[in-house]
Amino acid sequence: MKKTLITGAAGFLGSHLCDRFIAEGHHVIGMDNLITGDLKNIEHLFHLERFEFFHHDVTKFVHVPGRMDYILHFASPASPIDYLKIPIETLKVGSLGTLNLLGLARDHKARILVASTSEVYGDPLVHPQNEDYYGNVSPIGPRGVYDEAKRFMESITMAYHRHHGLDTRIVRIFNTYGSRMRLNDGRVVPAFIGQALRGEDLTVFGDGSQTRSFTYIDDQVEGIYRLLLSDYVEPINIGNPDETTILEFAEEIIKLTGTDQKIVFKPLPKDDPLQRQPDITRAKEILGWEPTVHRSEGLKRVYEYFKSLSHDELYQAHR
Ligand code: NAD
Ligand code: UDP
Repeated sequence: MKKTLITGAAGFLGSHLCDRFIAEGHHVIGMDNLITGDLKNIEHLFHLERFEFFHHDVTKFVHVPGRMDYILHFASPASPIDYLKIPIETLKVGSLGTLNLLGLARDHKARILVASTSEVYGDPLVHPQNEDYYGNVSPIGPRGVYDEAKRFMESITMAYHRHHGLDTRIVRIFNTYGSRMRLNDGRVVPAFIGQALRGEDLTVFGDGSQTRSFTYIDDQVEGIYRLLLSDYVEPINIGNPDETTILEFAEEIIKLTGTDQKIVFKPLPKDDPLQRQPDITRAKEILGWEPTVHRSEGLKRVYEYFKSLSHDELYQAHR
């Protein structure tokens, strides 16, 4: 039986990865300090003998006894309001946390996959973004704490691969949505659906002409799983190329939820990327992966999920 450590296990992506690796027959160790995650995302796994949970901050020395085959490093605040609120923790988890997990992988002779992001391309001057583009990131801008931490993560991962021969993988994840996102984490999918459900106006930042390309969680997990099992070491984009402007997206959510709320415009946050669309040629060729869930279907599923939440969860203030 394969033994797999997943950091950030109590978060959105990490908890879905725990489910997938349990379903694939692995023994899964989830690790999380719960800074943006929630145990309720994984409590359905607690009764399983093949699941263990370590409440631990990965920026502190990480020790896991016994054998280990795979490590998936997903711990990190991921939504702009989270990482702007806890910038130092964000820089530390991408740098010190990654260093600790690379060391752990080396000790255990394990394969490690690290969660990078489309944010390494910053506000891109190349469109769509392919993996050879170096990006356009301000190191000193407010988003730099996240973007540069992830760029450092990629650099140190490649250095461990080249210098120590460590078996590494790097996934560049584009905006992903699905169940278990926090309604109040500020990301646009839970933000708009939450506003619609509470009967509030939808807040579009800027004039809404900026674009994003949204990937449904099941497609993302499938791409990550295939990458882990491949022998490809360079970064790979995993994302759905179906691009939309944020204004069109707000209109789509209004239609989906049947709300009669209005759209209101708020200032565009500094350094908010104006366009984003993955070039997934590499993922198609190397992993045989492409998205299968259309946005209209994925949004229906996530809307059903958010509708099922309690009144308290719907109105919970941002932590
Ligand atoms: P999330 O906030 O739901 O999950 C992150 C988890 O990491 C949380 O449970 C949090 O408590 C944990 N964590 C943070 N710092 C930690 C630390 N020092 N030690 C231990 N645990 C820690 O976010 P998510 O959307 O699930 O993102 C997961 C990963 O995927 C992140 O690395 C993020 O950068 C990456 N990513 C996500 C997206 C996306 O669209 N969801 C896009 C690009 C990259
Ligand atoms: N956005 C918005 N209204 C909101 C939240 C976000 O218009 O209430 C915009 C945001 O400015 C960005 C896009 O939606 O242009 C995606 O934001 P998100 O935080 O989900 O992801 P990221 O900016 O990290 O891609």
